[in-house]
Order: sequence, then C-alpha cells, then structure tokens
Amino acid sequence: MKIKSIKIKLALSYILIILISFGFVAYFLDKNLEENLLQEIKSSLLKDIDLIGNQLIIENLIKEDIIYLDSFSKQLGQKANSRVTIINTQGKVLADSDESLEATAKLENHASRPEVKAALDGEIGEEIRYSTTLKIDMLYIAKPIMYQGATRGVLRLALPLSNVKNTLGIIRRTILLSLFFALGVALVLGSMFAAGIIRPINKIMNISRNFAKGDFKHEILLASNDEIGELAQILNAMAKNLEEKIAQVQLQNQQSKAILESMIEGIVVVDSSNKIISLNSSAEKIFSITKESSKDKNFLEVIRNNDIEEIIKTALQNGKFISKELYLVWPLKKVFEINAIPIFENKTPSACLLVIHDITEARKLETVRKDFVANVSHELKTPLTSIKGFIETLLDGALEDKVNSRNFLKVIQEHANRLDNLVNDLLKLSYLESKEVILQKEDTNIRNLSKQVLDSFKSQLKNIKLNNELPANLSLKIDKNKIEQVLTNLIDNAIKFNREKGTINIRHEDLPDKIKIVIEDSGIGIPVKDIPRIFERFYRVDKARSSQLGGTGLGLSIVKHIIELHDGNVGVESTEGFGSKFFFYLPK
Ligand code: ADP
Repeated sequence: MKIKSIKIKLALSYILIILISFGFVAYFLDKNLEENLLQEIKSSLLKDIDLIGNQLIIENLIKEDIIYLDSFSKQLGQKANSRVTIINTQGKVLADSDESLEATAKLENHASRPEVKAALDGEIGEEIRYSTTLKIDMLYIAKPIMYQGATRGVLRLALPLSNVKNTLGIIRRTILLSLFFALGVALVLGSMFAAGIIRPINKIMNISRNFAKGDFKHEILLASNDEIGELAQILNAMAKNLEEKIAQVQLQNQQSKAILESMIEGIVVVDSSNKIISLNSSAEKIFSITKESSKDKNFLEVIRNNDIEEIIKTALQNGKFISKELYLVWPLKKVFEINAIPIFENKTPSACLLVIHDITEARKLETVRKDFVANVSHELKTPLTSIKGFIETLLDGALEDKVNSRNFLKVIQEHANRLDNLVNDLLKLSYLESKEVILQKEDTNIRNLSKQVLDSFKSQLKNIKLNNELPANLSLKIDKNKIEQVLTNLIDNAIKFNREKGTINIRHEDLPDKIKIVIEDSGIGIPVKDIPRIFERFYRVDKARSSQLGGTGLGLSIVKHIIELHDGNVGVESTEGFGSKFFFYLPK
C-alpha cells in the first residue's frame, strides 16, 4: 500500500527514527549495564573468595573435617551473603552453606562442573549457570585452595543474578516508558510540523490545479523564502510563461485558421489511420460535406473517392509529397489537382495534409482557348482557300474571259469581305474580353438608337415588317456605341434568319431596377438543343446558311460580352419554325 499523505509519512519517519535510535540506545545500554553489573559482582565475589579462603584452616580441609567445614561455610556464607561450597580434589562436595549436612553428603560429584574443573587445574573458574535447585541464574566463582604447593581442594562462591535482572528490568521499563513518551511527542510534534509544511503545499496544489486547467488568473502567494517558497515562485513564473505561450499559440492558431478558411484550395488533414482531423470551408464546398459530420470519421466514409485515398496512403507510406490531377465525377464533374503532403512526428509520417485545387475552370479555359484557335484557323482558312483558288484560276487564264473573270473577282471580294468581317469581329471580341475596356456611358435615348440601327438595315429589309414599339422617352445611361453594336447584331440576325414577309418587333419591359429590351422575330427559330450554346463563340445552328449570309458566328458572343460589361444579362426564347425572342436586361 502506498502512503499518500505527507503528514503520515513525516510522522512515520519520526517514529522510525525514534524507534531506531531507541533501539540502539536500549541495546547498548542494556548490554553494557549487564556486563558492568556482572563485572562488579564478579570482582566483589573474587574479593570475598580471597577473604574466605584466607580464613579457612587448611588442615581441617585436608582432614575433611565435615563439621568444621559445614559451620565455616554457613558462617561465612551468611557474612558474604552468598553461597559457599567447599569441594575436595576429587570433586566431592564437603560442605555447602545452603545445604544441610545430610543433603550435602548426597550431592553429586562436582568435578565436572566447569568452574570446579578450572579450579582443580589451578585457575580461577567462573561460570553463569541456571540453578535447577533455586530456579535462577547463578554466578559461580571457584578458586583452588593451595597448600605447600599442592591443590588441597576448591572453594566456590555462588551468587544469584536476580539483582542484575531486577536492575536491568527497571532500566528496560524506564527505556520503554520513555520510548512511548517520545513516540507520543514525535507523533504530536511530527503532525504539527507536517501540517506546517503541508499548508503551503496545499495552497500550491490548489492553485496549480487551476494552472493545469489553463486558468492563470491567480498567483501562488507565499511569504516564506524556503524551498517551498521558491517552488511557488518557480510555478508562478512557469504559469506566466505558459499563459504567454498559450496566448501566442492561440493567436497563431487563429491566424492559421483564418488563412486556411480564406484559402480557395480545399484543405483536409487526415491522420495515419485515415481519420479526418480537420478541413476548411473550401473542402466542405468541394465535397458537399460539413466539418461537424466529417471530423474523426474515416476518409472514405466521408469522401467516397478511392483515388484520393490511394494518394493519401502512398504519401503516408513513402513519407513524400505527391501531386496528382484527378477527374471527379461525383458530386460534381470537376478536375482537381491534389497535393498530399505528409506531416512528420518523430521522423515518421503521422498525418497527411491534402491541398485540393479546383482546376476545372483553368482546364475549361484551356480547352476553350484551344477550340478558339482551332475555330479561328478554320474560319480563316475557308475564305482564304477560296480566294487563293479563284486567284489561281484567274492567273491560269480565266482573266482573259471577261464575263467570268468579273464573277470570279466578285467571289474573291465576297470572301475578302467575309475575312474582313471575321477579323473585325475577332478584334471586337478580343477588345471586349480584354480587361482594359472602359465604357463611355452617357444618357441615351434607346428608341432613337434603335431607330438609327433599323434605318441602317432598310435597304436589306426586303419585305420584312419592322415594329419599333419602344417609347419615345426611353432613356438609359449606357455606352452608346456598344449598345448600338448589340442592337445591330440582334436585328441583323432577326433579318437574316427571318422568313418572307416576316416581322420584327422591338419592345421593352420596365422592371423595378432594370429595363428588358426584346427583339422578336417570326423567323426560323432555334432548335431546343442548340439554345444553351447559342451565345458561344463560333456556334452556329446551320453553319452553311450562316456563312452564306455573311455570318461569322461571333455576333451573339459580342452581344453577351457588351451586355455583361453593362452589368446586365442576355437570354433567348425560341421555337423552331416560329421565331425567336432575344432579350437583354440593362440596369436602370
Ligand atoms: P452569325 O454570324 O452566324 O449570325 P451569331 O453569333 O450572331 O452568328 O449567331 C449564331 C447562330 O445563332 C446563328 O448562326 C444562327 O444559327 C443562330 N441565330 C442567331 N440569331 C437567330 C435568330 N434570330 N433566329 C434563328 N437563329 C438565330
């Protein structure tokens, strides 16, 4: 079990220190005391044994005068306050202060007792032994009794060690008591000290918890200058630092977010397990998804495109940047340039950043440009080939044929005019498409302008009836020349594609913020399938007919451009065989 509280840990360590130090004290004190006491007893016994030995009448010992020896031992035993035993050289007990004469006679031979044995060998013997008679530890000291150079017997003194035990017992009890006392004091003082240490730590902990949650409002206020005070200061400094760093990171985050959100390119970040981590608004639009519904979901689950998933996989596997062009069919027909950039963490790719660039428009423009060049070349080639052919014919001798040569020249002129028209229209169109067009807007009476245009067509009208229904006061702020071009092109078409005895009506509709001008004819009309493409460059329903009528296929394109430059828009309603209604809106 782990102890969690410092208070308990401190108190326990105090107790441990006290126990260890008391243990040492008790052990050495106990040991020394016991030894000292024993030593003291021993030396007093040695003194006593000498004194008693000196008083013994050796002859009586040699004679083994039991009566004498018995009373001697009892008298001196009393005086010395110890047990006195006299033993002959064979180990037989002759007298014992603690035993009666009869009992002494029955005592077993003592020659084998270690202290007696030592004394019989001429040394002073001593031993501590448990006395089975007295049921107590006894200290035995034995000394040989010498006479005329020979050992005549052994004098032995014995003293119970109960005194030593008693004294030791008292001391041990005192030590134990003071141990308990010290433990009690240690517990109380230890808890008090611990509480003193814990108070500031608790304070630090409480405020640090706020730090951990990202709340750096409060500082740790501690008055002490010790290590804990220093710790508090370090934590305060750290919190301040962190707060600044977090603010910095947040700012950077916001900036990056703003950059990501404002990017036209779609951005998707996928982790190594193919989960979507983040994406920007452009990516939402491209794939028709939302951030909320895509986050933390598998890439394929959200964007069902195996090709993109394959790109991510390869980028993550190889840890290398990949760029690929993809044709998307779903949710929209689009062309994307997909850049997959692996993001490394500890040198291994942990995520993949996808930058999705919608290049549909660029590709479309490219195709349009290519088509345009092809169309222009083709349009130029036809009249040029004819001109070349007729000139060659003329040079080959047709020039002499007066009648035909004139006709040939007329055809050449026709084709040259066609070329001229084409180049003029192309120049107009390229100027309108260039960014440098500046509209010269002025208040213009639309009725007068359309009348002027209609008048210019009078010679070509044959039997087509014109109805100019525009009101006399219809005025708009427009670029007069350009709108004149619009009316010219539309009326020209209305005449060209009209039928015998047809009609052309020019009307207007007054709408809240714009004016709608309608040019309606009773001509051949336009097939439904061609209507959506009619304003495209060089698009013609019947190419041969248009060419024959001197058309270039650029008229409606020019109309569309001019109207759009005026912030308006164009349109057509038509029924094949019944006529067409071309209209355009101009803001008021
Ligand atoms: P073009 O020089 O051939 O007239 P435009 O761009 O003006 O070129 O017109 C493109 C094509 O649109 C024409 O070739 C014709 O097929 C069709 N178109 C234009 N105006 C009319 C109309 N009023 N009635 C029927 N078809 C028309």
